[in-house]
Amino acid sequence: TFSFETCSKAGRTLIIGATGFIGGFIVDACLASGRPTYILSRSKSTKVGAHKELQDKGAIVLYGKINDRHTMENILKDHKIEMVISAVGGDTLLEQIDLVHAIKAVGSVQRFLPSEFGHDVDRADPVEPGLTMYNEKRKVRRVIEEVGIPYTYICCNSIAAWPYYDNTHPSEVLPPMDQFLIYGDGSVKAYFVDGKDIGKFTMKALDDIRTINKSVHFRPPSNCLSINDMATLWEKKIKKTLPRKTITEEDLLEAANENRIPESIVAAFTHDIFIKGCQINFPIDGIKDLEATSLYPETPFRTLDDCFDDFLTKTVNKKNADERTKIVDKPLEVTSKHSSGAA
Ligand code: NDP
Repeated sequence: TFSFETCSKAGRTLIIGATGFIGGFIVDACLASGRPTYILSRSKSTKVGAHKELQDKGAIVLYGKINDRHTMENILKDHKIEMVISAVGGDTLLEQIDLVHAIKAVGSVQRFLPSEFGHDVDRADPVEPGLTMYNEKRKVRRVIEEVGIPYTYICCNSIAAWPYYDNTHPSEVLPPMDQFLIYGDGSVKAYFVDGKDIGKFTMKALDDIRTINKSVHFRPPSNCLSINDMATLWEKKIKKTLPRKTITEEDLLEAANENRIPESIVAAFTHDIFIKGCQINFPIDGIKDLEATSLYPETPFRTLDDCFDDFLTKTVNKKNADERTKIVDKPLEVTSKHSSGAA
């Protein structure tokens, strides 16, 4: 629910990257909010199933590339797009610059949310190759500010998941059942936000007049944990203690230095989060930087404890499915021997 004092009307919203990892949460929340929801796809031939699914939920699929300025201007004009959210991935961040110019030329877009959805890239300072990605996000910010289109930067911090240091799409992988890898002394805290809440609070910020030309940081106190805290929470859920192995600062820097893309980028961010404390080492001033729980005190974030319950359910389901597969596999082998004998 949106408060009339702080929010403009629910506008026609174009989402770029709707078939991506973060974009999926954004598009679901956009559709749930009742806005006319348009999604941009680069290709008619790939992701047909994903497009059909989104169309069935009410989204309108448009075709085009964000780096094709002419097409983007036409799309924005023809469909009277008022809000644009980009969730393009790390490899195409700079393509957003053409989109920014198209938005400027059309002049009718009320808000642009570039592909951020992580740390405050002007403050965080990861080692390479993470730095290159942040330099690209910074460059997009500077172009937005120079041309003067209304924007909001969503700094949602980490998605709620086990923070494996080599895994790009974290919530697709469950917490460990064998051992914990603890970064440094394991005491540096970070924020972990449920994917659905990333979508939900992005929508709230989208047409909130208080967030124009501001950064919105997601810092729910119930979701601020160190990796030691997370290990203890998971042990509570699985009712079992697991061994803890230290991954030192040097180990993380070495993994970053290997320059394997994307794994080394994740290692660089893991170092920035869990060794340097990049999510918690600056205050929110309430002027250029706003905080989501203060903006929307009436709406709770899902706690990490709740998210871990989901992970436990998925772990149990996976274990059961694996066991079923084993049972099904075995008789099949036997049957095939028997049947070949019978044939
Ligand atoms: P993905 O790689 O999963 O998805 C990218 C999407 O963008 C795809 O749908 C892709 O379409 C689309 N796309 C890319 N280029 C273009 C283009 N030129 N024109 C139109 N569509 C395009 O991205 P992620 O979800 O991993 O990343 C999105 C953002 O979220 C990034 O800024 C990333 O840094 C951040 N992130 C944050 C995390 C966190 O924990 N806070 C975790 C992961 C990401 P197609 O289907 O055609 O390829």
